[in-house]
Amino acid sequence: MKPFAYESVPDTASAVRLVAARRAAKFLAGGTNLVDLMREEIEQPELVVDVRGLPIGEIAVGADGVLTLGAAATNTAVANDARVRERYPLVAQAILSGASGQIRNMATVGGNLLQRTRCAYFYDRASRCNKRAPGAGCDALDGFNRYHAILGASDHCIAVHPSDLCVALAALDTTVRVVGPNGARAVPFEEFHRLPGDRPHVETALRADELITAVEIPPLDGAHRSVYRKIRDRSSYAFALVSVAAALETREGVITTARLALGGVAHKPWRARRAEQALVGAPATDETFDRAAEAELAEAVGRRHNAFKIELAQRAIVAALDELVADGGAR
Ligand code: SF4
Repeated sequence: MKPFAYESVPDTASAVRLVAARRAAKFLAGGTNLVDLMREEIEQPELVVDVRGLPIGEIAVGADGVLTLGAAATNTAVANDARVRERYPLVAQAILSGASGQIRNMATVGGNLLQRTRCAYFYDRASRCNKRAPGAGCDALDGFNRYHAILGASDHCIAVHPSDLCVALAALDTTVRVVGPNGARAVPFEEFHRLPGDRPHVETALRADELITAVEIPPLDGAHRSVYRKIRDRSSYAFALVSVAAALETREGVITTARLALGGVAHKPWRARRAEQALVGAPATDETFDRAAEAELAEAVGRRHNAFKIELAQRAIVAALDELVADGGAR
């Protein structure tokens, strides 16, 4: 690990000022990803500014019903919060399906959004990787790509976003609150993460000197009837091959609201808009679910080791929706 300076500051403005003043500076929260990347010298900040002492760790419900998760709130705190479990069980389920208890005690909401891919070639400095070294090439294209993207990828990068929490947030019309030297702004969750295109090293809409302060989830009809289904190579402590965050509302057997997002399939948490379109207004039947899943995966591209994920994703969508209607007696 390269030597670096460490600062801990009491307020958000000072933290932003410190990072804005140094080109190679990073915010540090739980450190569950950043410190690993520093050990491997993939990330080499000269300064890390610890944000855990800042007043951005609160979980609150406003008078307007919006749930705010502070960026420094830990995964454990969010997953155990009664308001989260009651109103957005999807969020708690997604968090609890990932990592280990110890990691969840350290990992934060903001850190979840900024997790970098677990593509093995990204971590291996002897491999070619456009994300680590722009223009170098991508050894995953013809390498071992079992865990890689089937949607929205490019010839420059086929990595996937690793977070489970982000898949749930993608399904729930979340807003990301950020602050930088020029003030605060709000970014819709769907616009926060980028597809790789020809610049896979640019992963989010966040500027280098901006700090995530919170995410906000609006009050949503039907969000309490939801499920997070994760398919992985072993039953715990593994990243998703495919995951599905789903919420469904029906009236007299007809789907009135559908929220669907996929994980493990793309460079960003994938909001399944095509499937949602196919679901709303249709009867809550297996035929509808099949049609929706096929519509979402119609443009999926498989490679040597991951083509199986196309059918896996279709089946996972149908199974998640089936589970919802079975649990809710919605048909
Ligand atoms: Fe790097 Fe992306 Fe290729 Fe992985 S898939 S080696 S992260 S460019």
